[in-house]
Formats: sequence, C-alpha cells, structure tokens
Amino acid sequence: MSETLENLSSETRRFPPPADLAANANVKADAYAEAATDRLAFWAKQAERLTWAKPWDQILDWSNPPFAKWFVGGELNLAYNCVDRHVEAGLGDRVAIHWEGEPGDTRTVTYSDLQKLVSQAANTLLELGVTAGDRVMIYMPMIPEAAVAMLACARIGATHSVVFGGFSVDALATRIEDASAKVVITADGGYRRGKPSALKPTVDEAVARTGRIEHVLVVRRTGQEVAWTDKDQWWHETVEQASPEHQPQAFDSEHPLFILYTSGTTGKPKGILHTTGGYLTQTSYTHHAVFDLKPETDVYWCTADIGWVTGHSYIVYGPLSNGATQVMYEGTPDTPDRGRFWQIVDKYKVSILYTAPTLIRTMMKWGDDIPAGYDLSSLRVLGSVGEPINPEAWMWYRQHVGRERAPIVDTWWQTETGSIMISPLPGVTETKPGSAMTPLPGIGADVIDDQAQSVPNGGGGFLVLTEPWPSMLRGIWGDDQRFIDTYWSRFEGFYFAGDGAKKDSDGALWLLGRVDDVMLVSGHNISTTEVESALVSHPSVAEAAVVGATDPTTGQAIVAFTIPRGNVDAEGDAGEQLIKDLRDHVAKTLGPIAKPRQILLVTELPKTRSGKIMRRLLRDVAENRSLGDVTTLQDSTVMDLISSGLKTAK
Ligand code: ATP
Ligand code: MG
Repeated sequence: MSETLENLSSETRRFPPPADLAANANVKADAYAEAATDRLAFWAKQAERLTWAKPWDQILDWSNPPFAKWFVGGELNLAYNCVDRHVEAGLGDRVAIHWEGEPGDTRTVTYSDLQKLVSQAANTLLELGVTAGDRVMIYMPMIPEAAVAMLACARIGATHSVVFGGFSVDALATRIEDASAKVVITADGGYRRGKPSALKPTVDEAVARTGRIEHVLVVRRTGQEVAWTDKDQWWHETVEQASPEHQPQAFDSEHPLFILYTSGTTGKPKGILHTTGGYLTQTSYTHHAVFDLKPETDVYWCTADIGWVTGHSYIVYGPLSNGATQVMYEGTPDTPDRGRFWQIVDKYKVSILYTAPTLIRTMMKWGDDIPAGYDLSSLRVLGSVGEPINPEAWMWYRQHVGRERAPIVDTWWQTETGSIMISPLPGVTETKPGSAMTPLPGIGADVIDDQAQSVPNGGGGFLVLTEPWPSMLRGIWGDDQRFIDTYWSRFEGFYFAGDGAKKDSDGALWLLGRVDDVMLVSGHNISTTEVESALVSHPSVAEAAVVGATDPTTGQAIVAFTIPRGNVDAEGDAGEQLIKDLRDHVAKTLGPIAKPRQILLVTELPKTRSGKIMRRLLRDVAENRSLGDVTTLQDSTVMDLISSGLKTAK
C-alpha cells in the first residue's frame, strides 16, 4: 500500500480556525503537549470531569493485553453522571432534548424531566426482574424514550444492546440470541417518510423465534394497532406510573455498559462490548473538545440514529454527560420536503451539527438552492463521521452549510473505538478538505507498512492505534478469540483498524477506506476513496462508489458507479459523453493508471442502514457473482437496479 497515488497530498487549500472560536476554545493547542508529557495523567484528568462514587486505584491496567482495564477499582453511575448531577447543580430546567417528530409534533425534555423518566424506567426494569449484568435489547424509533431506556439500563447496571429500528426479524433475533437478552424495549412504531412504520410485529416474531425474552416493554408512539401477548406491557401503564424516586448505585469502572453490533459494511456484524468508566471519560471529553460545546449557549444536533455507535456516544453519553441542549429528530431528511434538516437548524438555532458524508452528498445531489433557502447563521461547528469525506463534499459542506465560516471537524473512529480518535480541534487545527488531520490529545495512531514499520510522510499503509485508549472495546461479546484475531493479530502490539490511510507531507492523516477495498491495478495500489474523490470533484457528480473487478490484463480493473448531480442531463448521448468526460477527468486528476475501465451512471448506491457504501456488493455485481450478505442493506431493490443497469451498459 506504500505506493499510493500522489493526488491527496497535493491538496493546497487550508482553513485556519476562526479567531473568536480559537480564542475561546474549550481545548487549546497545549492539550497535545500535556498529553504527550504524561498520557495517563492526561486521561486521569479527563476522568475527573466525571463524578465518581469511589476513586480509582490505577489509571490503566494493561498487564494482559489486549484486555484493558481503565480506572481500576473506581466506581460510578453513568445515568447519575448524565442526568442527576446536572439537576443537583441547579440545571434541572435546562432543556436536554428538543425533540422533533417527523410529522412535526414536538416535545421539550428538561434535565429534571429526564431524571424523573430515567428513574421511573429504572424502577420498572427492576420490577420486571432485570438485575445488574442482564442484557436488555432496545429496538426503538428516534424518540426520547430511546435515550431514557439506555440510561435506565445504565442506571441499574443492565447491559443494553440497541438494534437499529429498521432491521429485520432475522437481524433482531440473531442479536437477541447472541446477547442472550431477557427483555426488549420497543414501540408500536415510529414515523418514517410521512407514515407510521411498525416496529412491534418485528419484535413479536423475533421474540417468538428465540424463546428467550421474558418481557417486552412497549412505548405508544404512533397509536397503530398492535398484537398483544402476555409478555407485553405498555410503557405508559408501567414506567409512567412508577415511582420517580430511584437511588442510583455505583458500578465498577469495568462494568459492561453495552453491546453494539457493527454496521456490517464488510461482513457479519460483530458484538462490540463497551464498559463504563473509560467509555464515559472519553466520550465526554471528546464531545467537549471536538465540538467545543458551550452547554449554556449551544444547541447541538447529531443526526445519527441511536442504533449506531454515533448515537450512543454523541447523542446519549457524550452530550448528556456534558449537560448539552440537543435536538433529536425522528424522521428522514426529505419529509415533508428536502429542506427538513435546514428547517430544523433554523427553527432551533442549531449551533453544532454532526452528520455523515452520505447525507452531505445527498444534499449535493438535491441542489444548492435548498440550504440557501434557510437561515443557517447559528451554525458554528460542523462535524462529519462514518466514511471518508471527499474533498469536494467537504467544500460543499463548508460553503453551503457553514457559509464559509464554521470550521469542519472530520472525525475518524469506529464502533470499536467508542469515541472519536482522529479529528481536528475546531479552535486549534488548520484544516485541509478531506483530511481527518491528527490523532486527538492522548491518542496514539500511526500508519504502518506491511512490515509494521511507520511510513514516512508522503507514504500510505495501514492505520493502527499504538496505545490503549479509555473507550476502547473490551472485546467481542462471547468471542475473545475473534477479538484477538480481528484486531490484534495482524501487527504485533498494534490495534489494526482495518482502514487504509496516508500521511501527507505535513504528516496529516487521510483515510483511504477499508484495506479490503484497495484495488491492485497493473501492480499499483489504488484506493477506492481517491478515485471516488476524483469523480466527486467533477462538477456533474454528487456521489461515486468504486470497486476493483478481476481483469485478465490488469489483474484488477476499476469499475465506478456514479450518481450525477440533480441538474445534470445523464440520458442517452449526454450520458455517454459524461462517462467519457469522467474517465478523462479521473485520468487527468490521478494519472492514466486510475482511469476507470467502466463507469456506470446510477441513481442510488447500495448502503448499509447507517448510510455507508457497501462496496463488497458492487464488487459482486462487477464480477458477476451472486451477492454476499445483504441483511444490513438499506434498500434491497437498489441492487436489482444496479445489476440490470450493468448488463445493458457494456
Ligand atoms: P463492519 O465493521 O461490520 O464492516 P463498519 O466498519 O461500517 O461495519 P462502524 O464501526 O459503524 O461499522 O464504522 C467504522 C468505520 O467507518 C471505520 O473503520 C471507517 O472505515 C469508517 N469511518 C468512520 N468515520 C470515518 C471518517 N471520518 N473518515 C473515514 N472513514 C471513516
Ligand atoms: Mg468496522
């Protein structure tokens, strides 16, 4: 992988932090030096941002790698840290959640309200026989009760496992089995694309299939007709009638907090286990540092679903531990129209927005005039997560959403890392479009070659984490061997993230996508991200996915699936011409070696439910194979469309 293309390091655009933000930033440049001097002392200081019932004896126990223990001997309650302590500090009337339902109904949940709800839900779970260490599945729409359910579990020491509310019976049942859960918390349904979408029937079937679940707690959200079994209890008849008094008990720093299954972009999802003290230390600190949250004045909005790690760390635990006021939105970005996100930003005066490249590229496809129609002047920090952000998508985000003012923090991390690991700091870093820049203070990351040697600036290779970090996964649920094999076996002493990366001439990091996706064309390693970014830099392109397909002459050949921008004519001859222009454009930008053998114009790409492009399915198509595991695919009809397009496009 060391022999990558030169293109990304030639990016010359630079964006220094706005002066006022830099002057008042929560975290300044000295944090890097402080953490470098004594990394463990630095993390201990961040842990002190939390309230501990019992102090720790040891910051890190790394005597049995890769099994880490952080803040050994310490005890704390996470729900207390996210809710009660703010109320005790006199902030009970502060809004925790401005909730916006898809149909336009709203709720305002203060920290006092949250304390009451979480205590009631905790009491109800206890009455249902849930005790510390039991597993509880959460299968919910984006409503405040989803966060309440998670916090109630944390409060009583039950381990939650949230399953995205769009997953099938199969996906839910296998996760219930894998986690051997005892209770499911769900809702009748939620609103998606303008209509109620049922959740309860999926739960009913999954529960019937596994035979493990003792109770199902059901929130009434849509009011749709539901089947009822003797395991079911309504939330409003139990939780909302329960005592609002609950004394939180402290749990060990290493008590299991949650199991979350990865997105399944590359294969079968893994049940990632996170624990308590280290996880909250790092989610809380990174949320404070990377978003520069000022809890008294900011309105924060993370558009992720609670079913993904981003929802866990940056809707629930990070922001609430910091006493943030945040927006939570139930529905889709195009209901009732394509301006919905910007209307929400405008309405609540959102000042910090955290979203994903897939959404930014979708907005690019829909057209610049849509965000232009709203007042977005409240925005002061913009975040991105989930995939590499193409430089032109980054520029679009900056221009059309940030209005050339708000800094962008491109945050690299994974379900496994629990928190943001590589990112600019908005008051410190001079950013480059498309680069996640440098590891955060206290984080060790590097790019190494296949001999595990650090590559020099200008080189590319495998992204690894070189030091244990507080919110690191503690394992794969029930499968220590898979944990060791997947992350710790390829390179001795390093955590192998599975992503490729490059260091530019200044040492800034550029994420290049999954190492499994790297293409080998006539002996050259070419990353999918670089070719995709070259395609997206053409003014007619909104989004692109590139794969390497077996080719008799070049070993692998580049096949690109490309979505034109909304205003572009891509029919008939105009389409043929565009394809030709795009092939030439890539050859010109990256060199003739990167010229795609084939470009297909498509209207959609296969994505996981979390919005990530699933290249392995496109590779199956490009190589005429039957499709691999499609259970985490967002829309299964997309693949039929693409396959039939491919057959006619020779
Ligand atoms: P699976 O592991 O099951 O294949 P997944 O890796 O998609 O699923 P997540 O943990 O949700 O599941 O995603 C983490 C991955 O997302 C990272 O390894 C990386 O490939 C990608 N990613 C996240 N943020 C960024 C970013 N800012 N830049 C580049 N890539 C990113
Ligand atoms: Mg992964």
